[in-house]
Amino acid sequence: MTKNREVAQALEEISLLLQIEGKDKFKSLSYARAARSITGLGEDIENIRDRGELTNVPGIGKAIADKIESFLDTGEIKLLVELRERVPVKVWELEAIPDVGPKTISLLYRELGVTDLVSLEEALDAGKLEGLKGMGKKTISKIADGIKIARAGASRTLLAEAMPIANRLVERLSRISDVNQAVVAGSLRRRRETIGDIDILVDASKASKIMDAFVGMEDIADVLVKGPTKSSVRTKDGLRIDLRVLPTESYGAGLQYFTGNIDHNVKLRAIAKTKGLLLNEYGLFRNDEQVAGQGEEGIYDALGLDYIPPELREDMGEIEAAQEGKLPKLIKLEDIRGDLHTHTDQSDGKNTIDEMLDAAVEKDYEYYCVSDHTQSLTIANGMDEAHVLKRIEEIDELNASGRWKMKILKGAEVDILAHGELDLDDSVLDQLDIITLSIHSRMKDTKQVMTERVCHALESKYAHILGHPTGRLLLKRPEFEIDMEKVFETARHNNVVMELNAHPQRLDLNVGNLRAAKRWGLRIAINTDAHRTGELDYMQYGIFQARRGWVEKYDVINTLPPKELMKSLRK
Ligand SMILES: [Zn+2]
Ligand SMILES: [Zn+2]
Repeated sequence: MTKNREVAQALEEISLLLQIEGKDKFKSLSYARAARSITGLGEDIENIRDRGELTNVPGIGKAIADKIESFLDTGEIKLLVELRERVPVKVWELEAIPDVGPKTISLLYRELGVTDLVSLEEALDAGKLEGLKGMGKKTISKIADGIKIARAGASRTLLAEAMPIANRLVERLSRISDVNQAVVAGSLRRRRETIGDIDILVDASKASKIMDAFVGMEDIADVLVKGPTKSSVRTKDGLRIDLRVLPTESYGAGLQYFTGNIDHNVKLRAIAKTKGLLLNEYGLFRNDEQVAGQGEEGIYDALGLDYIPPELREDMGEIEAAQEGKLPKLIKLEDIRGDLHTHTDQSDGKNTIDEMLDAAVEKDYEYYCVSDHTQSLTIANGMDEAHVLKRIEEIDELNASGRWKMKILKGAEVDILAHGELDLDDSVLDQLDIITLSIHSRMKDTKQVMTERVCHALESKYAHILGHPTGRLLLKRPEFEIDMEKVFETARHNNVVMELNAHPQRLDLNVGNLRAAKRWGLRIAINTDAHRTGELDYMQYGIFQARRGWVEKYDVINTLPPKELMKSLRK
């Protein structure tokens, strides 16, 4: 869905340039809303356009739909071309500076003619920022620091890398006396796949004491700002952390506000308004009286909504569902009974089968599938037919030994070859319990070739699960070109399960695809693809992603007891 990304980016640039130009705030907001909406789509925007349904997408009216069509046809939007001429600012360059948004960029551009990082640096060195409206010494030095961050380009971090760092800091903060509670907010609390910076909120009365302790913690490399109730630091890993101290009576409101996302919050504030209430980061108020705000639940309740789990708060239908009492009952880690896609040292894993099984038993799994790579994937030491047969025999013996109190399933991660053929002979495939089919080669195939290739593979009677269906590696490699609607349709006809690969760099399917898969009535397998024992813990990231995709327990096959699991895979 590379086109979705390009379209979203073009619309966002329009929004930013309009905002910098400062003439039409409302128009700017509507382009931003449309861009976010497209980013969350579970379908190729080209398909939606072909059906003439662009205006059905939330936030897209006729005017923006026309612009999208023009972009898809010509690669250009006239408004964007004109805006770039009128406002020659490299928005993406300047946006990469932490805390610098359209307002600041607009000021710098209009007053000083700043258009990019170089001209901003020149203006800084010449002392021109001093004396500008709203530019205190602190802000200026923050911008100077921020330029370094923008240059380093270290703007996003995988959830799995950010989370342990955030948790460690939260734990240390919680141990300070006077701290009632400390929690992570922001995109990390929403369990986004990648994180920009980390927001931590502390409920405490003596803010200055907390700030002193925080900036002195050993993980902290730089203090960017230290204020009475808010500080920003950079950790040794290069992550930016914002810490806010809130009073107890506003803690829930602050948590709600700083968890976001913006569209979710805007809609909540509008609902509050219709009820004659005012919602902000300090609480929910009727006239000057606080109605709610100490806890998040109280706010949702007072607005007539069921409590919305943080993972859903992106204005993708969750508010309407909460109004109607129709929020999904999201899957939990405890619901998982086994892992169906794992490796050992027989292909490119790092641990022996015994070591992997020991680790799986620790998780109280009822079943566990060993699914090493097949022969054509020579780089991963893939197994040929003889090797797989030997492995099958070995697993039969392990099961017979009763050493592990769970069912060991015989599997393989079978490569999908150039024309959709499978990388093992039928006689061998026939003896396996669970077969996961994956693309590991020719990832630059055209959309049509890739779609036909995968769909052909799914038609095999040996296709149980489609592994990491779009092949992306977060922050590294985009998904390959493929028509997921066709894939879902073919999977549906052939009873093939979609994998949600829980590896933190994959999280494949993405949220849009998960919701689309659900619409198709497809079932999902959440698997870690572990290559070493510690990676069995990746299951939690799969669960986070599943929850973001509105996935419930009954959607997921590895929540089933062993017998039902095997029954569900039958053709
Ligand atoms: Zn794979
Ligand atoms: Zn794998």
